[in-house]
This record gives sequence, C-alpha cells and structure tokens, in this order.
Amino acid sequence: MSMKVCVFSTKPYDRTYLDAANREARHELCYLEAPLRTETAVLASDAQAVCAFVNDTLDRNVLEKLAAQDIKLVALRCAGFNHVDLEAAQALGITVARVPAYSPHAVAEHTLALVLSLNRRIHKAHNRVRENNFNLDGLIGFDLNEKTVGIIGTGQIGAITAAIFQGFNCRVIAHDVAPNPDCEARGISYVDLDTLFAQSDIISLHCPLTPETRHLINADAIARMKSSVMIVNTSRGAVIDTKAVIDALKQGRIGALALDVYEEEGDLFFRDLSSDILSDDVFARLLTFPNVLITGHQAFFTHEALTNIAETTIGNITSFGETGEAEHTVSVEKVV
Ligand code: NAD
Repeated sequence: MSMKVCVFSTKPYDRTYLDAANREARHELCYLEAPLRTETAVLASDAQAVCAFVNDTLDRNVLEKLAAQDIKLVALRCAGFNHVDLEAAQALGITVARVPAYSPHAVAEHTLALVLSLNRRIHKAHNRVRENNFNLDGLIGFDLNEKTVGIIGTGQIGAITAAIFQGFNCRVIAHDVAPNPDCEARGISYVDLDTLFAQSDIISLHCPLTPETRHLINADAIARMKSSVMIVNTSRGAVIDTKAVIDALKQGRIGALALDVYEEEGDLFFRDLSSDILSDDVFARLLTFPNVLITGHQAFFTHEALTNIAETTIGNITSFGETGEAEHTVSVEKVV
C-alpha cells in the first residue's frame, strides 16, 4: 500500500536520495523544510506517516499531536533514537522505525579525519598557506604510532574506528557494557573506565546517549585522564558535559578536543546561521580554543550513507504499508 509521508527537516540532499529510493515504491512524500516541533506537527495532518531526523522533537507532546492526526508510523532517517519518547509512542499506538546501520564506515572515517586534522593542525595550515604564510610555529602534532587509544562503545562504529586506529599501529583498549568478540579477536583488551581514562592518549566516544552515558565525560572523568589527552566525540553531544570540558580546556587539563556533535546542537546544526548573532555562549566559547575542532554533525554524510538511509527508510515505510510492521522498529522492549 502506498503511504502519504510528511518528511520534516528536509534538505536538498534528503530529497534527492529519498526520491531516488522511492522511484519504485511510489509513496507520496511531502517535503517540509520545517523541523518537527509542537507547533509544526499539524503540518502532517493528512499524512499516515512522518519521516524525521536527529534534531526533530518526538516527545510525548508531539507524539500526542501526531496520534490525534492518525499518524501510525514515525520513520526515523537516523540510527539514534534517544530523542523519541518510546513509551509514549507505544501507548499512543505509533510504530517507530529507524535505520540501524547506514554506514558505520562513514562515521569511523570522519572520526579519524577529525583526529588527524586536529593533531596535525590541517585546518590552520590550510588557512596559513592560502595567505602565503609558510611558518610552522604552532603546528606541531604527535605520531599516532604506538599511542594508546581508548574506545568507549565498540558496536558497529566503534569497532571499525578501533580497526582503523590499529592500522596506524596504535594500541587500542576499549570499554563497553557488552564487549565485542570481533574486537577481542583483533587483540583489543577491554578495561574499566578508570584504566581507559588513565592510559589513553586519545579517547574516542562511540556509545549511544542513554541515562548511563549522559555526561560520561564530566569533571570527575577528566580529572582521571592524561592532561595531554585528545577527546573526540562523534556519538551524541550530551555524552560530554560541555561546561566541564571548557573548564578543563581553560586550565590546560585537556590536550585537544574534536567534536562532530554538541549537547545543544538542535538550535544550531544543519542550518546556515552565518548572518545571525550566535546566542549560544557555551558554543561560542568552544570556538575560541586553538585546540578545539568542530564539525556540524556531518560524520554520517557520505554518498553511501545517504543512499542506505533513503533505501532503508523507504523499506521501513513500504513494509509498514504492506504488513503493519516496519522492518527495523524500535520499541521499549526491542530494537531491530
Ligand atoms: P551500536 O549500537 O552498534 O554500538 C553502540 C555500542 O555502545 C554497543 O556496543 C553498546 O554495548 C555500547 N554501549 C551502550 N551503553 C554503553 C555504556 N554505558 N558504556 C559503554 N558502552 C556502551 O551503535 P553504532 O552504530 O556504533 O553508533 C554509535 C553511536 O554513534 C550512535 O548511538 C549514535 O549516537 C552515534 N552516531 C553518530 C553519527 C554522526 O553522524 N555523528 C552517525 C551515526 C551514529
């Protein structure tokens, strides 16, 4: 059965890839630039499903509005579902589907891009060379060879990131609530967080955002790390307590910080705000440090990932239309 789907937070590239994936399925996709919020939920009034992204709001209030409009399916075009009130969705009879794996390689490779750029100051060097400034002062990095890398969360992305670091001849240690046998087979040892914090030269975050991982990197954790540590976060912003890392950066208690995600990114990322006054003072402070490098949630952003996201999303909508069950559902009890 063909479905009418209201696609929130649409960017031009979403439309390109979803249209290509939808060519045979022929669902009616209604593209909206607006994010899904309490005020915009009404825009889905004649649809049967909504398609949403990472910074759309899917709290109880929004879900109640969608349910009142007879929306039966929320098709997330992302893997993370920390922004969805799953209990409310279940109680309201709304199925939540996601894209469990679109390209763990994309995120893992971007993690390394951040580490290498920040370590070797590529972003600064590029600007200098463009201005005919060939001075090397301030561009000193360190060899990755034989450094210890601590990976927190060794699921799909963490495991690939770990393997890439091993390719640089790094010693990789890891922490996960469920150790990955593939990583153990590659010689990666699992350690407790204290050991990981104490031994790592680079700490890379790849765990989901849960009540247990919120502010996992806080003042107490930073106090247990090497003062030269490089922290890289491509998971979810709130795994890091941003104010605590800013304090540590000011005191020289962190060597370097690379972020693709930020706690309050919902009001910033995925938009051109270059003509606006930046009202987020915490983010503004982060931008002042010479040893901080930030990208705006683009780790997933490759051709392969966008193709997989679109195809899996259309697949979820099609299976729901045909059977009443989406292929990759998330609910309070199970994650498929
Ligand atoms: P995954 O589910 O395959 O792996 C997550 C791993 O984290 C699992 O091994 C799990 O056991 C572990 N984990 C859970 N709780 C933990 C805890 N308290 N401490 C340590 N480990 C814990 O997920 P994935 O596909 O590898 O993605 C990881 C995260 O990356 C996602 O949750 C998402 O937030 C983020 N992500 C970011 C982007 C981006 O563009 N920046 C894109 C995709 C995913």
